[in-house]
Amino acid sequence: MKNIILFGPPGAGKGTQSNKLIQKYNLIHLSTGDLFRIHLNNKTELGLEAKKFMDNGNLVPDSIVINTVEKKILENLNSNGFIFDGFPRTVNQAIALDQMLVKNNLIIDLMIALNVNDEELKERIKKRALVSSRIDDQNEEKINNRLQVYTKETLPVSNHYRKLDKYNEINGIGSIDDIFNKICSKIDK
Ligand code: AMP
Repeated sequence: MKNIILFGPPGAGKGTQSNKLIQKYNLIHLSTGDLFRIHLNNKTELGLEAKKFMDNGNLVPDSIVINTVEKKILENLNSNGFIFDGFPRTVNQAIALDQMLVKNNLIIDLMIALNVNDEELKERIKKRALVSSRIDDQNEEKINNRLQVYTKETLPVSNHYRKLDKYNEINGIGSIDDIFNKICSKIDK
């Protein structure tokens, strides 16, 4: 089993690369953002609760996120592993993930961080806004808030995995295929 965290700010390309990685390595894509959007489309209580935070680009509370992830992991214990996309986004979530995995005799193999500067991220998110219905992509203030939340609350998660010697960083600017090949070379190392 291979468990990989694809890390990086909003707009770094985590979703795009995850979709390619799950096909190549036959992994489960565990995107917390996608899980919340599915809940929201189905108008579940959880989805409506998450929406209050998502619409403004704030983080959904850890307890909700952790329960959602644990459920998805337990449903897929027989898989080849997971690509975690958009999770963990706080150090508390990282600690909870480690505990969940240990309980099931699993570990994170590596974190791969996609490095993209803010200017490029904003351009990409604005482009995505033209084709997506995501409310949080649609306005500059929300995009800026998401980038600030990332720096303040999510970036420290990388130190957690640095300390565990699992951290790898690659340049997230370039063609989708070039970036994909760089990610694969880290996984296949
Ligand atoms: P994403 O699709 O990963 O960009 O996530 C969209 C939104 O969902 C984020 O801006 C947060 O509001 C919420 N979200 C997704 N994943 C998490 C997480 N791990 N922790 C807290 N909030 C999250």
